[in-house]
Amino acid sequence: MRTDVAVVSGFAGVEAGLDAFGITLGTDGTGTPWTDAMREEVLAQAVRIENAFRVADPDGLLARLGPGEAFDAIFASRGDITLDTIPERRGCNWPTAPVISAGAITCSSELVEYRTFSSDQTWDGMANSRQYHFAHEFGHALNASIAAAYRGLETTDRSPYQVIDDAAEGLPNPSRRDWDDPAWGLPARNVQGTLLRSPYQQNDSATNGEYFADTFSNWANGTLLDNDAGRALQSWMDRMAPEWLRARLEASGLLEAPPPTTEP
Ligand SMILES: [Zn+2]
Repeated sequence: MRTDVAVVSGFAGVEAGLDAFGITLGTDGTGTPWTDAMREEVLAQAVRIENAFRVADPDGLLARLGPGEAFDAIFASRGDITLDTIPERRGCNWPTAPVISAGAITCSSELVEYRTFSSDQTWDGMANSRQYHFAHEFGHALNASIAAAYRGLETTDRSPYQVIDDAAEGLPNPSRRDWDDPAWGLPARNVQGTLLRSPYQQNDSATNGEYFADTFSNWANGTLLDNDAGRALQSWMDRMAPEWLRARLEASGLLEAPPPTTEP
């Protein structure tokens, strides 16, 4: 948390911070305007995501990249990951996509579309649902970025959706996932005996994609459950993140060149 504050306060303002992280907040002409609070939450989540990757980077691949540059490199967006609010229309303007009447859709590693946001009033003193909504969609965008990296490298696709059901890692496969079961590893909120998935879980689907997006947002925010399942997810993320970083940076030509040979 202290690191988040230090990074954010290093910028002249929220706009400068978003600019450094290469995040554009748009309205697709007619979508809901972005408020200052929403802008701050997007930046704060981007900072947390970048910090989580820096912690899980034993080889120091990100060390030479400044605040925001690392985020940009991870998402391979090079300055144009856009979060758009949209009117009610087909997601991503794809003819085959459903009409989005609520929630969000991640179109690619460069574009997330929000029809509505999870409520920032869903708050338990630690977290609000809207910040997890931002991190959740960044999780989908990350998968797109990493899958593209493996395609570019023409190697086996070990992107998040492909490997999150690896039983050898102690992770549950879809048939063993249930959002309100602590063995799923993600927190739920207990309100007078009733379990609610928000703010920590944005989607109760057991698919690899939705399970990953919620795992990712809780990893970045340090809220994976402190039980066997949560620790399995934490160690899986910490083991996979360096591999994903290496694949993404290599595919982008951003792995540091080897030091020049010093010959007399
Ligand atoms: Zn989702």
